[in-house]
Amino acid sequence: MTVSEEKPLILIVEDDPVSRSILELHLEHNGYPFVSASNGLEALRLFSSNYFPIVITDWLMPEMDGTALCRAIRERSSDRYTFIILLTSKNSPEALIEGLEAGADDYIVKPINPAELRVRLQGCRRILDLESSLKQSLTEIRNISIRDKLTGAFNRGYLDQQLEHEIERAYRYQHNLSLIMCDLDHFKKVNDNYGHQAGDEVLKRSVQNIVHSIRRQIDWVARYGGEEFVIALPETDAEGCVIVAERMRGKIAFTPKGDELSSLKVTASFGTVTLTPHSHSVRVTAADLIQRADICLYQAKQSGRNCVVSEFQKVS
Ligand code: GH3
Ligand code: MG
Ligand code: MG
Ligand code: MG
Repeated sequence: MTVSEEKPLILIVEDDPVSRSILELHLEHNGYPFVSASNGLEALRLFSSNYFPIVITDWLMPEMDGTALCRAIRERSSDRYTFIILLTSKNSPEALIEGLEAGADDYIVKPINPAELRVRLQGCRRILDLESSLKQSLTEIRNISIRDKLTGAFNRGYLDQQLEHEIERAYRYQHNLSLIMCDLDHFKKVNDNYGHQAGDEVLKRSVQNIVHSIRRQIDWVARYGGEEFVIALPETDAEGCVIVAERMRGKIAFTPKGDELSSLKVTASFGTVTLTPHSHSVRVTAADLIQRADICLYQAKQSGRNCVVSEFQKVS
């Protein structure tokens, strides 16, 4: 297994200026970037505002020694791993066990043998590389598990979970939460007249048009079923929600000229609801909100499609 080109940043912790300079020279020679501290406490202070993938620490130091530093680093909650090498003149099996038990990953006995330091750092980089590729895979797996494969919108599982969170947040912070339910009009005809692939393409474009109508990072869209989508708009009131739904409607109904699908007229209907939390009101559930949005959507279909029906406008 080869290690990645980029050399990780190393934190040197050593109280003796001569030993520290020697270690710095070795690291410089091997092309490693580093920062130095003269005891464990100083190292921890640096840790609070920086991430160090590798720490090479002396054992005996004033204020906080190497094993205490190992324990302190391991107690910190961090989503990134720090590989710790204890560098010490203590050369007994008991000391090695004590050092590793405190949380060190590796152990080098002074005086430093440059070749040994070089290969130990190489081993350490293999582990850090492995950790980062595992993290990347986990992120990819998570992304796949919450996304609809065809459109890239969030899937039903995500919708069920995330909508409950949004409702919880709306009640906790007394913020509005708006929901749009969108259903493509006469979509069956698209499949029947142009084929299933064209239908898929329309679904993808519709999601792109929805995504381009909402705030990044805050609002989100999920595929509720075949050609139905739910869009969540946190901290958005009923009027604002209608404006967004109208924007979506306009974008979806627009067909670019000269495109292979340009003869196709795509439109969608929308139902919108807004949760306005009051401290004494009965809590609504995700299912309630979706059902209410669905009733509005049904009315939009009844009113001739390609339109927005808001629960708020129905009532007022
Ligand atoms: P309405 O305006 O009343 O909503 O009519 P509609 O034709 O859009 O509604 P209907 O529920 O009758 O048809 C939905 C169609 O969506 C039927 C189904 O084959 C199609 N569909 C569902 N999922 C997909 C998909 O992933 N790809 C494609 N191409 N079509 C899909
Ligand atoms: Mg020392
Ligand atoms: Mg439809
Ligand atoms: Mg439908």
